[in-house]
Amino acid sequence: MENHGHINIGNLALVSPLQAHGTVLPTAPENLGPRVLELSSILQTTLDVEAQLQLFGREIQRYLAIDGLVYSLPGSEQTVVYGTEASLRATYDLKLEDKTLGSLRVCRELPFAAKEIRSLENLLCALVYPLRNALSYKQAVELASRDPLTGVQNRMALSTSLTREVDLAHRQQLPLSVLVIDIDHFKRFNDEHGHAFGDDVLVAVSQTIANTVRRSDLLFRFGGEEFVVLASHTGEQGAMLLAERIRENIAALQTIRGRGIRVSVSVGVARLHDAEGANELFNRADKALYTAKHEGRNQSRLG
Ligand code: GH3
Ligand code: MG
Ligand code: MG
Repeated sequence: MENHGHINIGNLALVSPLQAHGTVLPTAPENLGPRVLELSSILQTTLDVEAQLQLFGREIQRYLAIDGLVYSLPGSEQTVVYGTEASLRATYDLKLEDKTLGSLRVCRELPFAAKEIRSLENLLCALVYPLRNALSYKQAVELASRDPLTGVQNRMALSTSLTREVDLAHRQQLPLSVLVIDIDHFKRFNDEHGHAFGDDVLVAVSQTIANTVRRSDLLFRFGGEEFVVLASHTGEQGAMLLAERIRENIAALQTIRGRGIRVSVSVGVARLHDAEGANELFNRADKALYTAKHEGRNQSRLG
């Protein structure tokens, strides 16, 4: 069973399970004020959305028995599950000053009494401000790690991901490969057709790479006309196949913005060795790229 309705608390809008349209006073009949403040300061100890909702689920159990929570943010892959789902649910769409903060489903097997719903809604008041801050922080981090031209992750993000993927591959004893991709004679596009057209080439190349790699592969714009792919669970053979597929798909591009074009890339490939660090791995791929350039461009080389 699921219920919905709208409730406004000041500028905080909740979709409530009990009232279709109404107003809840900020002060609860059972004086939850100090609890809300206490809960709010606990939630402010983290800016991580997942950790914050786990804390919220754990802390509200002191005042209200629940079986679980499911939080989701429309338009993103963010979902947090705390505890277990149950047949009865109270669903709240959390909003603050017109900013959508996601939807929270509070689940349990036993029906909620009106008094419990009031407690829950007061406790939710403690969640919205810390959650708004955590979501803003997440958005700022995401913006800082994206390349604005191509929309793929940037060099800063690569540094974090490469270290993490190398650690993970060593721990799980799984293969990991790095591809460094550089557009051949890219300067000519700028010189012959202008910088704006050069930008269009960069976008087309990055989209072609993104469409060629697997969903689990990570793509970064490393520099001006250089891209990097981190291919997890991929050894030399798979990585070379991928490099060649990328090279061929880019060579197959015929027009960009209606202009006939020929683009080629050179690719350096390296597979993570035992006990190797992130920098050494990257440098081997970069050296292999240098060899590919040196030996005539438009080719892939294994380092
Ligand atoms: P090679 O085959 O040896 O890689 O030659 P190249 O011309 O691709 O390499 P080079 O490093 O000489 O030139 C890269 C050029 O990329 C120089 C720079 O002006 C241009 N560039 C870097 N960032 C951007 C960008 O964001 N937009 C555009 N349009 N050009 C850029
Ligand atoms: Mg180049
Ligand atoms: Mg370059």
